[in-house]
Amino acid sequence: MEWTHGWRESAWKDLDQKWDVIVIGGGITGAGILRQCAHAGLKAVLFEADDFASGTSSRSSKLVHGGLRYLKNAQVRVTLEAVTEREYLLKQGRGLVNRLSFLYPCLEGDTMPGWVFGAGLILYDLMAHQWSHRSYDMEDMRELCPLLTTPALKRGFRFFDAQTDDARLVLRLIRESVSGEALALNYARVNTLLKTNAGRVCGVVVRDSSNLADEEREVQARVVINATGAWADQLRGQVGFAPRLRPLRGSHLVFSCNRLPLTRAVTFQHPKDGRPVFVLPWEGAVIFGTTDVDQGQNIITDPSISEAEAGYLLDSLKFVFPKQELTSADVIATFSGIRPVVDTGKSNPSAESREHVIWDESGLLTVSGGKLTTFRIMARDALKVVRKHLGPITFDPDIPVVDAFPVEAEEILAEAHLTPAQSLRLLGRYGFPSARSLTSENVDMEIISTTPYFWAELRHAALTEGVVHLDDLLLRRIRLGLLLPNGGQDQMPRIRSIVQTELGWDDKRWQEEERSYRELWNRAYRL
Ligand SMILES: Cc1cc2nc3c(=O)[nH]c(=O)nc-3n(C[C@H](O)[C@H](O)[C@H](O)COP(=O)(O)OP(=O)(O)OC[C@H]3O[C@@H](n4cnc5c(N)ncnc54)[C@H](O)[C@@H]3O)c2cc1C
Repeated sequence: MEWTHGWRESAWKDLDQKWDVIVIGGGITGAGILRQCAHAGLKAVLFEADDFASGTSSRSSKLVHGGLRYLKNAQVRVTLEAVTEREYLLKQGRGLVNRLSFLYPCLEGDTMPGWVFGAGLILYDLMAHQWSHRSYDMEDMRELCPLLTTPALKRGFRFFDAQTDDARLVLRLIRESVSGEALALNYARVNTLLKTNAGRVCGVVVRDSSNLADEEREVQARVVINATGAWADQLRGQVGFAPRLRPLRGSHLVFSCNRLPLTRAVTFQHPKDGRPVFVLPWEGAVIFGTTDVDQGQNIITDPSISEAEAGYLLDSLKFVFPKQELTSADVIATFSGIRPVVDTGKSNPSAESREHVIWDESGLLTVSGGKLTTFRIMARDALKVVRKHLGPITFDPDIPVVDAFPVEAEEILAEAHLTPAQSLRLLGRYGFPSARSLTSENVDMEIISTTPYFWAELRHAALTEGVVHLDDLLLRRIRLGLLLPNGGQDQMPRIRSIVQTELGWDDKRWQEEERSYRELWNRAYRL
C-alpha cells in the first residue's frame, strides 16, 4: 500500500479480515519479522503504538557491529552472529549500512590491558574472514587523530565496523514489506489481547493513538507476535506471565562537527568504570555514548538523559580530548533509548546477555532482546516458530533483506547531478523507486544546513512516508531534531512551507504540531 494521502483511512478498513500473523511493535524486530512474513506469502499486519521506529530502534548508537565487548563477557556466539550479519548487511544494504573506521586508544589506567583488546581484534577479524586491524604507537595515533591529546595515551589500534541510520533501516524494511499483502499502521496501539475460550491468544483490540481519529477494531489472526521490545512484559502480563525483562536506559550526547572534528570513530574505556564508549561521526554531526542504567518499570515512550549520565559522558570526553575543552554548552542534542535485556539478576547491568529470546506463551509469541544488528536472525527464528503454528509455509530464510537496486540505478540517479556517494546514499535510504522519484523533478536538491540531507528528501518523506505528526518527520524520517542546534529551529520556516503544502495542514494544525514537537524536544532531546 502506498503511503500517500488517505492511506490511513483505507488501512483501517482493510483490517476487517482474518490475518495469518499480527506483529505488535514497529521497531527493528517487528519490521524484520514483517519482512519475512511478506516474503513467505503470509497475510501479516503490523501495529505500532506510536511512530515506526519511535522506540529504541531510533535511539541506538547506530552501529551494525559484532560488539567487541561481548567477547569480554564470553558471549562469543552473540559476537559471531553479529559479525556475520554485519558483513551481510554491508553487502545487501549498500548506501544504508556503511563501513566505519575506528581508533581504539590504549590509555594509562585502562582496566583491560591493550594486548587483550588486540587479541579480541584478531578473533573479531577472523570471524569476518578478514585481517583489517592494525596496531599503532602513540605518535601514529596522534597523527591519525590529532584530537587525542590526553597525556594518558600509550598506543592504540585501528579496526573496522559499520554504521547505519537505525530509523531509516526500519522504515525501509517496512516500506518494502507493505508493497504486497502485508499492512503496517503507525499510531495503532494494541490495548488488549483477544483469547479463545481455552485462553489462547487469537487476536488483538487495536486503537488509533494519533489523537486525530476515533478508530478501534478487533482483529483476529492465527499467530500473534509480541515485538514490543522493552515493553514486551506489559502484553505478556495479559496472559498471566511474570516480567522477565530488565529495561536498561542508554543515552547519547550529540555535538557539531566543528567542536569535535573527527574523520574516524573513536572507542575507548571510560576512565571511571572501564566500560567501552563510542564517539561516532554520523550524518554531519558527532554522537557520543552510551550509558547503561536501570530504567525500572517506568518504561516511558520518550526517555531522557539524566544529569548523572550527562556528567559521566562529558567527563570521559574531557579526559580523552582535553584540548577541545568541551562543556555542556557544546551539546546540541541528546537522545536516550531503552534496551530490552533479559533479566538474569546480574549486579552490573552491562554484564547482562544481549542474546535474543523467543517465548511461546499461551499463543503469544514474544520476540525480544538481541540487537539492531541481529534483527534478521531474530526474524528467521520467529518464522520457524510461526511455521510450527501454521503448518508448512514456504519461507526462504536467505531471501534478501531489502530489495536490490537494478544495475543501472546509480547511473539513473547520476542524471540528477549527484555525486556517486550521494546517489548511493539515496538508494540505500529509500530504495530505487523512491530515490528515483525524489530526484526526478530536480527540485529542492539543496543540502539542509550541515546535514547530508536534501530538502527534496524532506518533501518526499512528508508526502509518501506515513508521517502523522511533525516529530515523525524531524526525528525519524529526516533527523534534523538530532543533528541541528535547537532541534532545527532555524530551518522551521522552510520546513513549514513544505509540510503545509504536502500534508495539507492549515495554520492551526501547524502551530499545534510545532508546539508539541518543541515540547517533546525540550523534554527528551535537550540537555
Ligand atoms: C542506547 C542504546 C544503544 C544501542 N546501540 C546499538 C547499536 O549500536 N547496535 C545494535 O546492534 N544495537 C544497539 N542497541 C540495541 C537495539 O537498539 C535494540 O535491540 C533494538 O532497537 C530493539 O528493537 P525492538 O524492535 O525490539 O524494540 P523497539 O525499537 O523499542 O520497538 C518496539 C516498539 O513496540 C511499540 N509498542 C510497545 N507497546 C505497544 C503496543 N501495545 N501496541 C503497539 N506497539 C507497541 C513501541 O512503541 C516500539 O516502537 C542499542 C540500544 C540502546 C538502548
